[in-house]
Amino acid sequence: IKLDPVYLQNTDSVMIGSIVNIEDITEKVKLENMRSDFVANVSHELKTPLTSISGFVETLRINEDIDPKTRNRFLAIIESESDRLKRLIDDILLLSFIENKDSIPIEDVKVYDVFREVYDMTSYTYKNKDIDINYSFNDENTCILSNRDYIKQIFLNLIDNAIKYTPEGGKVNIDVLSSNSDIVIKIRDTGVGIPKEDVERIFERFYRVDKARSRDVGGTGLGLAIIKHIIKYLNGSIQVNSELGKGSEFIVTIPQKNFL
Ligand code: ADP
Repeated sequence: IKLDPVYLQNTDSVMIGSIVNIEDITEKVKLENMRSDFVANVSHELKTPLTSISGFVETLRINEDIDPKTRNRFLAIIESESDRLKRLIDDILLLSFIENKDSIPIEDVKVYDVFREVYDMTSYTYKNKDIDINYSFNDENTCILSNRDYIKQIFLNLIDNAIKYTPEGGKVNIDVLSSNSDIVIKIRDTGVGIPKEDVERIFERFYRVDKARSRDVGGTGLGLAIIKHIIKYLNGSIQVNSELGKGSEFIVTIPQKNFL
């Protein structure tokens, strides 16, 4: 709590009273701590691939006669760490854009078309992974007054996670139910699941249940934080049901009148 007393004097400099302004700064301090934690996390996350890149470049520079096989292996690491750096920067910029944007373009969004775009993209990205992806829409013509990029990002991050955290041979189901009042997007997978104690935390920036697994599948730890902010902006909600070793279900509800 911050106290800001102001003393009142009359014209003869005699104290006649005081005004005390009491301000609860708990939220302010919390926000500031979150901000500095975020900066520390960002620095750490960016430094990790950079350290690896500069280390391998240095090794290649010093060892001129390195055998071609090892050289190629090192180059592949440099390439994948650079990709990771790019993904991280893209996600950090996107998160900051979403957090700081007061207004965005609003248009009539045909949900099925946005979904198909994401479906085609992710099917291509994971063409070598054996996952059975199914989807159903109760109305393929449904439109929502919203922002196309935001709706696309919700599909993209949730479907990408469902595929990433589901081992080969598994299933991903996407159901979209629209009514006059809202649109409900359900994404279910038969993947690794999330421990109960972690469910609350997965929407925090850079929080991963299993850091090594997230890294191996190319995660940045920002996907769900981005979605959380988008959904808040759209006045919607997100719910998670998950069972460890069995799978997860993410349910997003967006009201039709999300901008009124
Ligand atoms: P990441 O880039 O690590 O995937 P996200 O913010 O998208 O970051 O997700 C945070 C964490 O939540 C992931 O690291 C993972 O542990 C967990 N997670 C998200 N989606 C799923 C899912 N469908 N199945 C299991 N775990 C998931």
